[in-house]
Amino acid sequence: MASLTKKGLSLFQQYRLQDFWDMEPAARQEVLLAGIGHVHAWHYERNSAYRGSVSARGLGATLDAKPRAAELSRLLRPTAATFKSYLDVLGTAFPQDDPSGFLEWLEVQVSIPLELERRRAFEKRYGSLEALFRAIEREFADVGLQILTSSGTSGRATIMVRDGLATELTVDAFYQAFQRFFGMKADHVAVFMMPRRTRIAMARMARFSVDRIGLSPERVHYAIPFPAYPDQVRIRGGRTLRPGIRGLAERRLWHPSINAMQRYLVDPLSTRKALGWLRKAAKAKEKVLLFGSPAQLHQVALSVIKDGSGLALAPGSLLGTGGGMKDWYPSSFAEIRDDVARAFRSADGTPLAMHDVYGMAEANWAAMQCREGNYHVPPWVHCVTLDEDDRIQNGPLTTGILGFFDPFGGGRLFPAFFKTGDRVILSSGAGDLQCRCGEACAYLARDSIRRVDLFGEAGCAAQL
Ligand SMILES: [Zn+2]
Repeated sequence: MASLTKKGLSLFQQYRLQDFWDMEPAARQEVLLAGIGHVHAWHYERNSAYRGSVSARGLGATLDAKPRAAELSRLLRPTAATFKSYLDVLGTAFPQDDPSGFLEWLEVQVSIPLELERRRAFEKRYGSLEALFRAIEREFADVGLQILTSSGTSGRATIMVRDGLATELTVDAFYQAFQRFFGMKADHVAVFMMPRRTRIAMARMARFSVDRIGLSPERVHYAIPFPAYPDQVRIRGGRTLRPGIRGLAERRLWHPSINAMQRYLVDPLSTRKALGWLRKAAKAKEKVLLFGSPAQLHQVALSVIKDGSGLALAPGSLLGTGGGMKDWYPSSFAEIRDDVARAFRSADGTPLAMHDVYGMAEANWAAMQCREGNYHVPPWVHCVTLDEDDRIQNGPLTTGILGFFDPFGGGRLFPAFFKTGDRVILSSGAGDLQCRCGEACAYLARDSIRRVDLFGEAGCAAQL
């Protein structure tokens, strides 16, 4: 973060993310507030979308040295106001039709110069969103620009960007959370219920973190052998289709065939492949990490149950879920947990831990579920809840819309100060509220996370 600001240089050089675990809560709070002030000032100067949004709420370039809740709450932008705003700006859900307009939109959203003369390197239009994203990543390879998406159910993609630094920070954040709550080492065999190639933000970051743990490539498996491009994800949803003749083909031909493929080929195949790797690892007494959406893990579990005796995995094996529950799925999360517990056990007879991961494309961090079922927020992220009037609520235990400030892990593309689309119970984890797992940081209470409809302004929880 050394390049952040001359003024902030010392602050951001002083702290690495891992240092926050051991800080006293009061000292940590002070560092976080100072970080928020620095990050605000830095981006206010460089980021026109952010400046426009917060100055409309009466804020200037600098915050109080000790910003109060009222001031802080005005820094929070709804995730969609940032990452779905291209829809309004371009007037289309298909940026591939207007690469130049899309780049202009992007330039306004980020705090680093994108040198708009580089627009000349682009075609007038691209055949797909994936093709446009690849062209952008090629052109801006020097800053390590990566485009990530989260489709939601509407098919109107949240489009997120990360540069090299943001990717590094996110991988570090995920890596530390995996280490702390999963205790993962390089001696696991990892089975991901996803394609190796995906733009889905959380899936990609989980994959990078496992790479960082040091697993050799032959120990990492991807159960979905086909890449999932954003265009396919959109057509599969069927809610946003191209106009005209192409849209007709998408509706009549591609939408039903992609869904049939998914249902009759991809889903059963990925379940079968995952199970094959699990059995092989069980036989070799190797620890495994199985990671996928709750529905995907459920399918693997049901398949084990159907076969009879259950599967005994090497002690230390881990089951991880992410991406949240989908409305259409017929079983509840509790039922899934029960079935998974019936299907898998540890070879030494102890129950296997199943950890859920709460994350979203817009966040460079994830909250990991501990053995008590609570979701621990990394200590370098300042979380709050908002009431109906978007005011930050005081007190150690509050219920409301989750907002977060990530001054140290958020990177330099935009200030990572966001209002999410999730209602949660947030606990400070201090004093009597400390989680029984022993972790001292703040957490989202077990079973308390609910997606809420904020009239389309919500960002999308990451989908695997
Ligand atoms: Zn806990």
